[in-house]
Amino acid sequence: MDGFYERTTKDSINIDPLQTGGKLSEAARRALVEWGDGYSVCDFCPGTLDQIKTPPIYNFIHEELPEFLGCDVARVTNGAREGKFAIMHGVSSSYKCEKKAVVMDANAHYSSYVAAERAGLKVLLVPNSGYPEYKMDPEGYSEAIDSNDVVLALVTYPDGNYGNLPDVRKIAKICRKKGVPLLLNAAYAVGRMPVKMKELGADFIVGSGHKSMASAGPVGVMGMKEEFADLILRKSERHPAKEVELLGCTARGVTIMTLIASFPHVKSRIKKWGKEVEKARYFSKQVERFGIIQLGEKPHNHDLMFFESEILYNISKKAKGGRFFLYRELKKRRIHGIKPGLTRYFKLSTYGLRKEEIEYVINSFEEIISKYTKTAENN
Ligand SMILES: *Cc1c(COP(=O)(O)O)cnc(C)c1O
Repeated sequence: MDGFYERTTKDSINIDPLQTGGKLSEAARRALVEWGDGYSVCDFCPGTLDQIKTPPIYNFIHEELPEFLGCDVARVTNGAREGKFAIMHGVSSSYKCEKKAVVMDANAHYSSYVAAERAGLKVLLVPNSGYPEYKMDPEGYSEAIDSNDVVLALVTYPDGNYGNLPDVRKIAKICRKKGVPLLLNAAYAVGRMPVKMKELGADFIVGSGHKSMASAGPVGVMGMKEEFADLILRKSERHPAKEVELLGCTARGVTIMTLIASFPHVKSRIKKWGKEVEKARYFSKQVERFGIIQLGEKPHNHDLMFFESEILYNISKKAKGGRFFLYRELKKRRIHGIKPGLTRYFKLSTYGLRKEEIEYVINSFEEIISKYTKTAENN
């Protein structure tokens, strides 16, 4: 049973975009042990999670979080998707019409579709610009909103495939003119980079604790303008302390404690966002020298990057182990995070990596490519 407790990848350099922003801070690691027991935060619960004063959850949810998100009212959820569903369901329930739709960008995350499906909303997609940058044109929102009974618009900021940051301010202006509230899906932004909901003109925001806020998961955050609070956070008729869209309670244990424990670390790390963007751009420029080409916005504005690599793909056709060669070669060098079997298209993230680690990853790619192209020449 010993091996079960061991995570073999934990000492590797991790470039998996899903994982780079969710690494625990030291404080969160301690909180994890201290608060690990089941409903540990409920010792002094007066009836709702956000009202718990000891540990200081009340202060976090009502003071620190709204300020951090740039919103009026905030809640902690079990993840970005739970926040999206609560918002979609809440907004949708206030409309009497039958045909209801949510407009979202073509780069939207699958969990946005699924949340919409569960809320009974039809999904209208705003197209992106296609290969190679896959950018969102804000004007697309205008057309999509005109064509239907749209109750909500959603924009993914940045999207989880290309790491593109759409022009939210413009999109928000369009939505406001049409009278449609805008939800900012900031699962890859909140906790990594500075993002303020109201400054960007959005009405709702969601973030992901385990993805971008150095927390154990599942946990997330949700913010909104005051005017939507009564609707989204409406109380149960029978249990007047409990918020219906949150099913009465959300992160009722250790996950919220890791989120709070990491918060000072997260607040300070977003100040170094400029450096993170620099690192990503540097990485992209270096690997393009050997034929690993970055798609999505260029110059890039986020640590999540998508690459196309004909050269690695061609190698995989002949290499021993076929398309798994890249995974194996990286694993040998203790680099983790590109899915086994991918060679032609893959994404990675440089978030939080030290300069030497970035150099090491770049050199490793160069070494692998040159190793396999040399063998080919010799054959
Ligand atoms: C990861 C991701 C999500 C899902 O976040 P959860 O907190 O796990 O629900 C949603 N949207 C985008 C864009 C993501 O990248």
